[in-house]
Amino acid sequence: MKIFADLGISKDILRAVSDKGYDTPSPVQEQAIPAVLTKQDVIATAQTGTGKTAGFTLPMMHLLTQEKRESGYPIRALVLTPTRELAAQVEESIVTYGKYLPLKSLVVFGGVNIVPQIKELRKGVDILVATPGRLLDLCNQGHCRLDKVKFFVLDEADRMLDMGFIPDIRRTINLLPKKRQTLLFSATFSKDIRGLAHEFLRNPITVAITPEKPAAQTIAQRAYRCDQQRKTQLLSHLIKTGFWEQVLIFTRTKHGANRLTQKLNKDGIHSSAIHGDKTQASRIRALEGFKKKNIRVLVATDIAARGIDIVQLPHVINFELPNLAEDYVHRIGRTGRAGLEGEAISLVCNDERPYFKAIEKLIGQKIELTDVTGYGPDNWPEKGPSSSEVQKAAALRKEANRKARGPRTNTGPRSSQNSSRKSGGSKQGRKKPNVGQSGGSKPSSFKPGGSSAAPATARPSNRRNRRRG
Ligand code: AMP
Repeated sequence: MKIFADLGISKDILRAVSDKGYDTPSPVQEQAIPAVLTKQDVIATAQTGTGKTAGFTLPMMHLLTQEKRESGYPIRALVLTPTRELAAQVEESIVTYGKYLPLKSLVVFGGVNIVPQIKELRKGVDILVATPGRLLDLCNQGHCRLDKVKFFVLDEADRMLDMGFIPDIRRTINLLPKKRQTLLFSATFSKDIRGLAHEFLRNPITVAITPEKPAAQTIAQRAYRCDQQRKTQLLSHLIKTGFWEQVLIFTRTKHGANRLTQKLNKDGIHSSAIHGDKTQASRIRALEGFKKKNIRVLVATDIAARGIDIVQLPHVINFELPNLAEDYVHRIGRTGRAGLEGEAISLVCNDERPYFKAIEKLIGQKIELTDVTGYGPDNWPEKGPSSSEVQKAAALRKEANRKARGPRTNTGPRSSQNSSRKSGGSKQGRKKPNVGQSGGSKPSSFKPGGSSAAPATARPSNRRNRRRG
């Protein structure tokens, strides 16, 4: 097994890595760091939680410090991420790993005031981490030039595909110099990702870490059968009797997340919701409260949860199963990070059986469906409904709800398009399912960093800024 010092990165970076408490490089770091140091393009399939951020930031920072900065303090490295939370997380890592280096970094994303970002850009930045929408806004308004970029990193490229960001990525690439090093990280190596690599990368070195086993091996996966209307009771029971102190729960919809949060709070379980209808400031507040364990339960939707990296998060609950099996892998990947153990529990009602089957098929393993005494379903036919039956029933329910609600007025809440774009991308814009992830090397003990990168003083932005991630 290699140690960090074998990988060819500078002493100042090694010192920061050692301060962080890492003993040995994770598998993706062991392969990606030397590959990036060759100055060739790299495509790496690495699942979230495997240490991929250091896999690209460490060698990139090493190479940046080797070369002379041009006058005018141009942006020399650009990292694009699909979500704001992930952008903040990546920049936080850059600050941590680069604490002994003379490099300046900045994170920019939508949903917060653009003015402080413009001011910081004016002062000069070496490494810019951004979500695509805000980056293009800044470029189009003339506040950001990318013509001196030497490194271009596409983080979680499969997610970018899912979220419909490819046109924005193409626009960004048109602003970059042709001569550059491009690094593409993705949880899967699908045909679409290969297509992207072909379009954006030149003779890339390929680094692949167990892509065929998407779910982390350190995560214990359990599933409980339950009637839909008793899920909240079962959830409260599990949290209370298990004395769980930090639980991340997934719902399918923003309304579902709000409703569940209210019910749990009523039941004495301190909870907060994080989703695309919340302002960025409130998302940051909820995430910070959860990380510091001031909030016991964080209820999240799929998009909002991307980039949530909490060391030693022990429990992830699928209150509702996702209708895209790939989202399941992303959800449970919030626990069991960096080789630590975690537990992922799914509450499955009869209607969700087709989703459950699709998940088992994707991860290539059976998850035992059991009952919690006193909470088992009243009715569980031998054969579950087919997915088309479930879809039909859902459409009928939606229609009935719509009729019961009556016609929408213009004075109501924001349109769903605006609000979902706020979370970094629109579900409507999602092209097709993708992705998966798994755990990595055994970690050494370290403290999770704060979120200095996230502009905590951020105010909700104007309408235009809200439109894009
Ligand atoms: P990432 O996949 O980059 O989001 O990293 C997942 C988690 O693993 C983060 O909390 C990192 O701080 C942690 N981590 C990254 N590299 C190492 C390492 N070599 N040893 C221990 N923990 C690490």
